Amino acid sequence: MTGLLTPDELSGLTPAEHCPHATPIPTQPVSSDEYLPAPQNEKQRQVEARMLAMADELGTRRGLDRRRFFQTASGMAAAFVAMNEVYGGVFDATPAEAATPDAADARAASLKDQFIMDMHTHFLRDDTRLLGFVAMRESVGRTGWNKQLSGKEQTIADLKFDNYKKEMFLDSDTKIALISSAPSEIREDWFLTNAQMAQARARVNREAGSQRLLAHAIFTPGRPGWLEELDAAIALKPDSMKGYTVGDNTHKDLARYPWRMDDEKVAYRGYEKMLKAGIRNVCVHKGLFPPSTEARFPNLTAYAGVDDVGQAAKDWPQLNFIIYHSAYRHVGGDPAVALAEFEKTGRIAWTSDLADIPAKYGVKNVYGDLGQLFAMTLVAQPKVCAALMGILLRGLGTDRVTWGTDALWTGSPQWQIEGLRRLEIPEDMRRRHGFAPLGAADGPVKTAIFADNNARLYGIDKPKAAMAIAGDRYAMAKRDYDKAGANPSNLRYGYVNPARSG
Ligand SMILES: [Zn+2]
Repeated sequence: MTGLLTPDELSGLTPAEHCPHATPIPTQPVSSDEYLPAPQNEKQRQVEARMLAMADELGTRRGLDRRRFFQTASGMAAAFVAMNEVYGGVFDATPAEAATPDAADARAASLKDQFIMDMHTHFLRDDTRLLGFVAMRESVGRTGWNKQLSGKEQTIADLKFDNYKKEMFLDSDTKIALISSAPSEIREDWFLTNAQMAQARARVNREAGSQRLLAHAIFTPGRPGWLEELDAAIALKPDSMKGYTVGDNTHKDLARYPWRMDDEKVAYRGYEKMLKAGIRNVCVHKGLFPPSTEARFPNLTAYAGVDDVGQAAKDWPQLNFIIYHSAYRHVGGDPAVALAEFEKTGRIAWTSDLADIPAKYGVKNVYGDLGQLFAMTLVAQPKVCAALMGILLRGLGTDRVTWGTDALWTGSPQWQIEGLRRLEIPEDMRRRHGFAPLGAADGPVKTAIFADNNARLYGIDKPKAAMAIAGDRYAMAKRDYDKAGANPSNLRYGYVNPARSG
């Protein structure tokens, strides 16, 4: 069992590929196996109904079925128009764009060369760990939710390297990605080994003929032999390090070595080695720990929060601490809980705690990654998404919020890219909380998030890299692919909860 969901919890889930409608943005939250997704709520149901109605109306006019319509730029626009109708105007999208293919195509074309660095992505290794995913899916099949699950090898292939390249570099406007992983006490259950990440980086960059992929290496403070393993990891020349303070996030029941970022006797010895090796970026998984997870693993709660970030950042000004998921607690929980909390207190656990750190500790080296929290709230409750963006930008600063999508867990990242391009913080929320507007898709704030902040962290010369990428083999492949009529799968590869709430 690779996941954290119990068989009972799994029995209530069905793979996202089997949702009947391949809409360009998911109409209900999709999770990785890290947490239980919330069921589709009334508003999400309304969004889906509106999207389908628009597909029938606007697609039919052009002789397109639903699936095909949703693959077009108009179909993407329609999805955000539907969200606006249900949630109020949060997205820059017009009915005209949804109805007029030329307008939608022109907009998409004008943005397709946007420089986007996604520093939080995943695919799965080919060996044993994938068998765990097969087992998970089989267990879903056994519960009777989907009888066709016996033929699911293909969907597992969809989580592998080849489909990663397609969804990352053909189906999305991402220019440079970073491949990540997660450690486990069970060796074969690491998403990827450190060596596999380095190999993927070498292969992609060789194939593309330019620097398209960066790589993490995982470090595991406190585990026996971890410093020697860190030496071996550093020898692979990772672009940054990644750690999990809860120890084993995949098998939390086995987590024997949680650690604190500000532990002078343990973590600091690792930072010392990294610094000596010229590594400056330390990425740390935080958050994704809703009350339901806490109830099962109360011993790990203290490690999932951000109490330990400020002092570490203060003690190590030469390092950048990039907090993955921006410590957002409620992924997998009900976004209504986060919305209620925000409306009552102006805060959202634990992202607000993270955003307080620069002022509290006088530090400038703490960053917030948008992986998973953006995807989960964009779909489930765009107002929470807007609030999270406002909180992070106000607290950390425009130049310390970084783009990361956690794709492929939620399919090709293009719908998230379109989401940020179109997202705006509603004016009344801005006024009440002192949030600055996010502005245009290619305005300064979104450009900082999509590209500039990550480029600075990873020493990428943007104009130079953009030129190299525009002429590389992946760019050529994408031009051919688009010309032939792109065929994004619009599939999400997590599990969705088919139970209907409310
Ligand atoms: Zn991740």
